[in-house]
Amino acid sequence: MTSDLFHRAAAHASTFRREVADRPQRPEQTYAEAHQAWQAPTPEQGTDALHVIDELAGLAGPGLHATTGPRFYGWVIGASHPVGVAADWLTSAWGQNAGNHTASPAAAAAEAIAEKWLLDILRLPPESSVGFVTGATVANFVCLAAARGAVLRQADWDVERDGLFGAPAVNVLIGEEAHATVFSALQFLGFGHDRAVHVAADSQGAMRPEALEKALAACSGPTIVVTQAGQINTGTFDPHAALVPMAKAHGAWVHVDGAFGLWARVSPAQAPLATGVELADSWATDGHKWLQTPYDCGYAIVRDAEAHRRAMVIAASYLPSVGAGERDPSHFVPELSRRARGFATWAMLRHLGRQGIAAMVDRHCRLARLIADRVRAEPGIAVVNDVVLNQVILRFGDDDARTLAIIARLQADGVAYAGGARWRGLWVMRLSVIGWPTTDDDAVRTADAIVTAFRANT
Ligand SMILES: *Cc1c(COP(=O)(O)O)cnc(C)c1O
Repeated sequence: MTSDLFHRAAAHASTFRREVADRPQRPEQTYAEAHQAWQAPTPEQGTDALHVIDELAGLAGPGLHATTGPRFYGWVIGASHPVGVAADWLTSAWGQNAGNHTASPAAAAAEAIAEKWLLDILRLPPESSVGFVTGATVANFVCLAAARGAVLRQADWDVERDGLFGAPAVNVLIGEEAHATVFSALQFLGFGHDRAVHVAADSQGAMRPEALEKALAACSGPTIVVTQAGQINTGTFDPHAALVPMAKAHGAWVHVDGAFGLWARVSPAQAPLATGVELADSWATDGHKWLQTPYDCGYAIVRDAEAHRRAMVIAASYLPSVGAGERDPSHFVPELSRRARGFATWAMLRHLGRQGIAAMVDRHCRLARLIADRVRAEPGIAVVNDVVLNQVILRFGDDDARTLAIIARLQADGVAYAGGARWRGLWVMRLSVIGWPTTDDDAVRTADAIVTAFRANT
């Protein structure tokens, strides 16, 4: 039974992947249609296993987005590489609990090695610790929890033991174009999402050094500075080589949100954007964006491994203690029981290697420029950002309604999928070139599809 079932699931998966390249790069159903299609009474009796899997594939199919398709550029979403997916299937089949090294020596060891490889490939301090989390949102949370503990410890306050009531106030300085999820992390940590000091950014969304200098001069005591490597709309990087030493001179902890941009460090051609990033204290990044692991996978990286562990460790009498040289994965993430994300991470790093990741990053950056240059040739289409990485934002005049109509038309045509975003008060079309299957031919077809949607709305 198990063998038939697994083969059936694999057959459905293969069919989906084969068809996604040529189908419209969007779901066939709206949410309302999908919700209607899934309607069914609560099951009282069981149903045959094969039938359940066939039914699931049939029900889900029309409501699945083409995130693994070659011309999908919505949000910033990696394309779940087949090698990562296959490793993830094994992860599920093995049913390992990655909480500690006794529950699964293999899961803990795979994470320990993937940690070492990640730090090497991202060129971050080798003494750092890595927590394998669900994504950059939780990675930001974990890193900022470590930051909170460390800056308060310097002020003789043990926040892990005593909490925040009565603690010295912590200053949080953050660029005005930071990602929304960082504010969620601040909220979870008792810092509030509206209390941080916003530091002015330039036209591309990069923090201005003179503005940070001023903000630092205006505050004293425990301080955390949150920077960004890869702005969600423009792809721009904060100027870390200037910012980090400035913040460190002030005694601040510097945390970098590098959900996708941190991977620029792997490519010698893109790495100059991220100069100085390595001087920070913590970094959040994703596996399920540029590394193409399946969902969910992110990495919380902290230079001071002890601050990281203190912020996250769970102690209970029945949990095994950790000996010298041993690593319990749960010490670096909020959860105890969880998925063994190290396996898919290990598989993707092993499959692509440093050079494969660099080549993919370079190709995506080149294709982003290709799309930008091709649509720019059409009078009336403006490329709003300096295309420094893989992100492209477009405007079609100053009429928001028209921009939204062009986005809707592109999505309906189905050749390519891009979404909308608000940038500096106006709607833009945003493309994120970050899926492993995207080729030169796909980029050309995408640019032409955008021009077609634009011309249909003039
Ligand atoms: C995607 C993204 C996040 C959030 O990451 P998730 O993996 O969705 O949790 C945070 N910051 C930036 C810059 C991002 O691009």
